[in-house]
Parts: sequence; structure tokens; C-alpha cells
Amino acid sequence: MCKEIWARQSTACRFCGDDQLRSFSLSANEILTPYKKIKNGVITIENGIITEVREHRERGNEKISSDFSESIIVPGFIDVHIHGIAGVDVMDATVGSMDKMRKSLVNHGVTAFCPTSDTAPLDHIKNALKTINASKKSNARALGAHLEGPFLSPEKPGAMIAEDLRTPSIDEFDELWDTSKKSIKLITIAPEVPGAIELIKHASSLGVTVSLGHSNATYEETLAGIRAGASHATHLFNAMRAYHHREPGILGAVLENPKVSVELIVDFVHVHPSITRLVCKLKPKDKVILVTDAIRATDMPDGVFKNRHELHVKNGEARLPDGTLAGSTLTLDKALRNLVFKLGIPLKDAVTMMTANPAKDIRVDDEIGSIEVGKRADLVILDKNLNVMKTIVGGEIVFENLKPKRSR
Ligand SMILES: [Zn+2]
Repeated sequence: MCKEIWARQSTACRFCGDDQLRSFSLSANEILTPYKKIKNGVITIENGIITEVREHRERGNEKISSDFSESIIVPGFIDVHIHGIAGVDVMDATVGSMDKMRKSLVNHGVTAFCPTSDTAPLDHIKNALKTINASKKSNARALGAHLEGPFLSPEKPGAMIAEDLRTPSIDEFDELWDTSKKSIKLITIAPEVPGAIELIKHASSLGVTVSLGHSNATYEETLAGIRAGASHATHLFNAMRAYHHREPGILGAVLENPKVSVELIVDFVHVHPSITRLVCKLKPKDKVILVTDAIRATDMPDGVFKNRHELHVKNGEARLPDGTLAGSTLTLDKALRNLVFKLGIPLKDAVTMMTANPAKDIRVDDEIGSIEVGKRADLVILDKNLNVMKTIVGGEIVFENLKPKRSR
């Protein structure tokens, strides 16, 4: 039998041409499922699906197709809030941009994501939704959109263009839902805006995860949104009413409620390291979700980038000309290293925040988000410095790091 595992799912191994290899095994120093840590573990994959996960020593002298004895295998990363990377953006509304995004994300261990739309005229958002549907074949999988607006608060537009904000409307949401072919996974809504509670109920009833964000909601207004079905908060602390001890506002409500997941951008620009650590202590471990909110300037040199407005990127920080933060240039592999090496968060917890937690949050955990029998073989092989060495999607290697970085 061929010793190289890197057979495409139903074609020949690219090393030896063996076309019978649809089943192979990987072993590694450590596997984080992420619910448990398996030392010297083995994963068997058949036709892109995980069929066995176990400790190596359970069987004797078996053949392992590939042994990563120095490495850690974790589930593929899932980013539920990302606008762009490598010079392209979801709002380009072209299949070419989506394809480039999917190809660039696997370099950072991302195997699935929610392409995130900006607040924009409805037709522009619809065009973006159409291209998401048209592009879902290889590399990182586009799971369905995250609509960041347009039903947000004019008091907390962040980097969105205020004139594009709209009053929450079930009819308009349904237009977007139909255009997406019922594939929208997540929508950010400000709960205090008139009509928002009805829309939260409606979107939730369709199985869309509703996120509270770009909001100046009071504590009570936020609780009303949670009661209506919202279960997620968009980029915690950013474009949100500030916390006050006599009016805890949206922040107090989502931090206190154990049913609400919170997004964190761990670039130490959007949220101070101390606050990031505090949130990890305050929230249940399965309710923190690492996102990037990355924009087209990610993986690009500093400079000026254009969406519908100008973005100035200096030292990796993206801002509007007035200084407002406008997304990030973070990648999820960097966020993982920041959490583990700079904040001391256990690796198991940090990996959970970018795999199992987002999968559960948007209800795709029956398929991805963990290394378990029956799940898709979406995997990342990390070196001890948590650099991405290989990314595997559906059992197929889609990225190999041929020049490992030495530094953290
Ligand atoms: Zn965003």
C-alpha cells in the first residue's frame, strides 16, 4: 500500500499514483479533538470522513500512512466573521474574489467560514450573496453568509456607511434570505432599533443565528433581544455602548447571560489583552468565539485600500481617515498564538474557541468543528510554535507550509 496519504478523495495519490487509497491514517504527537487531548493518537479517514480516532498504542505494528510525531492535529478553524483577505472582499461580489478568499484562508488553517457582508444598499448585498452561493467547491468552505447589517444602530455604525443603515424589515430580510437560497447562517442586528425584536424572532425561527451588535442598547433592550432569540454578540466591545455600573447596557447583558456567545478579535488592538483574558474567565468556555473581522488588507503590505470608503492600514491596523477602526488584518492562526503564548490561555480552550464553539453557534457541529467519527476530515497540523504546517479539507491536503517559522 502507498505510504503517502495525500490521496485526493477519489483520484490517485499525487506521490505514487496509487488510486486505491481512499483510506489512510495520520498519527501525531498530540490530537486535540478539541474536547480531549490524545497523546500519540491516530486518525483514520475514509473518503474525506473521519472513521476512527484512537490512541496509537491500542494496536501494535500497524501501518500509519503519515506520522507527525512532532506535531499537534486540531480541527480546521472556522471564522464566522470575515470580510476579506489578500486584496479581495466579499463585497466585491465576484466569484473570483470568493475563490481567492477560500484559497488564501487555508494558509491560516481556516477550513470553513461565513463570508461577511458589509452594510450596503440591498442590491449590493444580494449580489454578494449570489457569489457566495456560486463559489463553494474547493479549499476553505463558504458555509453561508454573516450579514453584518444593514439593520444596525445609527448611533454605532462603526466603519459602516451610516446612510446605508436600514430600519429592520422582515420583508427585506426575506428578500436577502431568498437570494441566499436560505443559506444565511448569521445576522447582526441592533436590538433597540424599531422593528428589531420582530426581525430577531423571524430570523431565529428560520434557524439563522442572530447576533447583537453595532448597538447602543440598554441592558433591558438587550435582554428583550435575547428573549426574542438572539444568542450571539458581534465583536464584543467594538461598536457597542460602553459598560457602566448603573446601566450595564448590551455589554453587561451579553457578558452575564450564559446562553449568549461572544465574538472576540484577539489582535490586542480591538480589545486590550487584559479585557480579553477577563472575558475568557467570565464566559462559559463554550461561549467564546474567536473571529478575525479581517478585511482585504489582510496578508497585504500596509497602504490605502478601498471598499466603499477608504481604509488606511498602518502597522497592520485598519482605520477610516477619521481614526475609526475598520475591521482587522488578523488571521485565526495568529489569534491562536496570541491567546496561548501572550495571554496564557490553555491550548485546548483556545482551539475550542475557533473550532467546536463556532460550529455549534451556527449549527454545523454535526458535520465539522471537532475530530470525531462521522465528521468531515477538516484538520490542521500545527508545529510546536502553533504555526500551520498543513491544512486538510475533506481529507485533501490544501496547504503545506514548506518554510516553518521559528519564532512565535
Ligand atoms: Zn465586520
